[in-house]
Amino acid sequence: MDEGIVPVGGTVGILGGGQLGRMMALAGRAMGLHTLIWDPDPLAPAAQAADDHIVAPYDSISALSEFAARIKCATYEFENVHSETAQQLSQLCSVYPPPELLQVSQHRLVEKDSARALGLATTLYGPATSPDEALNAVRRLGVPGLFKTVSGGYDGKGQALVESVNAVGAAYQSLQGHGDLMYERWVEFQTEVSVVVARDRYGKVVTYPVTENHHRRGILDWSVTPAEVSSDHERLMTEQARDVAEGLNLVGVMALEFFVTADGRVLFNEMAPRPHNSGHWTIEGAWPSQFTQHMRAIAGWSVATPRFLSPTLMMNLLGDGFVDGFEMLPRVMELEGVQLHWYGKKDMRPGRKVGHVTIVGDCVPRLKETAEAVRQILGGRCNDGA
Ligand code: AMP
Repeated sequence: MDEGIVPVGGTVGILGGGQLGRMMALAGRAMGLHTLIWDPDPLAPAAQAADDHIVAPYDSISALSEFAARIKCATYEFENVHSETAQQLSQLCSVYPPPELLQVSQHRLVEKDSARALGLATTLYGPATSPDEALNAVRRLGVPGLFKTVSGGYDGKGQALVESVNAVGAAYQSLQGHGDLMYERWVEFQTEVSVVVARDRYGKVVTYPVTENHHRRGILDWSVTPAEVSSDHERLMTEQARDVAEGLNLVGVMALEFFVTADGRVLFNEMAPRPHNSGHWTIEGAWPSQFTQHMRAIAGWSVATPRFLSPTLMMNLLGDGFVDGFEMLPRVMELEGVQLHWYGKKDMRPGRKVGHVTIVGDCVPRLKETAEAVRQILGGRCNDGA
C-alpha cells in the first residue's frame, strides 16, 4: 500500500470543528476512518462526532506538531484557515485539498483570475485597494456593483452595494478596516447554482447534478436538485467544474458557484475547496454523499461515480428562533420524505446555521410544498426570523 494512503483504522485530521467537520467525521467513521478535530472551541460541533479534539488556537505551534504527529493526512472544513497553518502543516503531513488551492479560494481576485485563466467567464471585476482605485474601478466597470473584501467574507458578509458613483465613498468607508477590497459589477441573475466536484489522487474526476440555490439575507436559505437550468448550461458548468478541479489539482471535494443570467450567460462567482452547504442534499439524494466522497479522496482511496437517487430540497435552519422550539423538530419528520440534521451547536446566535432539513420526493413542485409545510411548523426558525 502507498505510504500516504490512510488505511481503515487510520486517522484523518480536520482543521475546524463546525458542521462540515462533523459531517466529514460521521462519513469517515462509517468507513472505519478515525478523525481528530483541531478547533479552539471546546464545544465545537464536530468534536461530538469525531474521535478526539485538540482545543487550541490555530496559530499554536505545539498544537500543530501534536496534530501532525497523530494523523495520516489533514483536511480543512472552512476556507478561512490561516494559510500559514495549512502551509506549515503541509511540511509535516499531506494536506488535501492542496494548500495552493486553498490560497486561490482565499483571495477573491486570485480566485476569479484563476477561473478566467481556466476559461470560465465572470462578471467584470477589479481591485479597489485605495479610495482612488475604488472610484476608478466603479467608473470603469459601471454601476450597480459591489465592493467585497478580498478575503475573509462569507454568507454575504464583507460586501457593500454601490448604486451610483456618488455612493462610492460611503460604501467604501463601510468596509474600511476589513483588509483589501475589490469591486465587481452586479449580475442580474436569473438563477444561482452550484456544482459539487470530487477528484481523487489518481486523477478521477466526478461531478454531482447542478443544484439551484436561493439566498436570503446573504445566507443560503434553500437549495434544490435538479436545478432548473437547460441541459446545455448543465453540461457547460459540469465541464467547467472538471476543468477547475483538474487545473487546480483538487484532491477531495469542492463546490463552484455560478450565476445564470436572463440572457443565457453562465458566470462563475466563487469556489470553496471543501464540501459545501449546497451539497448537503447528497446525504439523502445521491450516493455517495459529498462527505463520503471527500473522505475517500483525501484518504487516498478512489472517488465513486455519483448516482442521483432522488430530487431533493435542502433547507437551512438558523439559530434565530431556537431558544425554544426543539420540540417542533421531530414534528417536521412527520411529513413525507423529511429528514432532520442537527449540528449540536451550543451557541445559537441569530444567523448561525444550526441544522438543516432534507426533503426527498418525486418532483420539485411537491418538494416545495413540503418545504412550505416545514416552514409552517417551524415558524421563523428557518431563515426568515430576525
Ligand atoms: P459571495 O460571497 O460572493 O458568494 O456572495 C454572496 C451572495 O451575494 C451570492 O450568493 C449572491 O446571491 C450575491 N452576490 C454576490 N456577488 C454578486 C454579484 N456580482 N451580483 C449579484 N449578486 C451577487
